[in-house]
Amino acid sequence: MNSDPSPDSPLVARFVPSPNFGERRRPGEPNCLILHYTGMPTGEAAFDLLIDPASDVSAHYFVWEDGRIDQLVAEGARAWHAGRAFWKGESDVNSVSIGIEIVNPGHDFGSPPFPDEQIAATLALARDICSRWAIRPERVLAHSDIAPLRKRDPGEGFPWRRLWEEGVGHWVEPAGLSGEALFRYEDEGPPVRALQALFALYGYGLEPTGVYDRGTRAVIAAFQRHFRPERVDGEADASTVETLETLIEGLAL
Ligand SMILES: [Zn+2]
Repeated sequence: MNSDPSPDSPLVARFVPSPNFGERRRPGEPNCLILHYTGMPTGEAAFDLLIDPASDVSAHYFVWEDGRIDQLVAEGARAWHAGRAFWKGESDVNSVSIGIEIVNPGHDFGSPPFPDEQIAATLALARDICSRWAIRPERVLAHSDIAPLRKRDPGEGFPWRRLWEEGVGHWVEPAGLSGEALFRYEDEGPPVRALQALFALYGYGLEPTGVYDRGTRAVIAAFQRHFRPERVDGEADASTVETLETLIEGLAL
């Protein structure tokens, strides 16, 4: 593995091998694409971290602000980008996914916009990966989708709508903002359980406990970052629930 560090994609500028990878622990091909932002003040600092043997983190790809793409781990190998995570029954997301780190300082450093060149490169790379591995649109996910209590990346400023318009990922026009929250933090009962089951049906790691707890709020905020970015507050409002229902209706379950 990685004995021949030749790029897996024609879009890659350089293959700079990271030592931080292992063998995939699941049979079959990667079936999930996870997008991240680097969340550090500079791209160089993030890049150095991902190839530092002491860091124990990596990703398959790294997209610079100007759209240059470097590869750090071969697609056949298990890169260490997801951490503790869950999606649709799978808790070893690293073993079934390909990870792309997109240079952006993120929430902690003012959430600057993603430059056009960088988004165009990310789109082209994602399209290439999804077509070579037959990754389904609804399995192109944010790090925050698979680790909602720990992660916010790539954030509500990431242009999921544009990716979808250009054929990458699953998305629907969000339902308009209106009205009050349907449920509140710490509400309990069967309707809360039904709501949790809907998020779990889409893929989120949410137990149907019937209690609108911290985990429920985090999943709803993660959903909003990806699918209803106009307001990210973790509140189960009508627009959020309607948007989720429309997404589920669009799935071939
Ligand atoms: Zn991440």
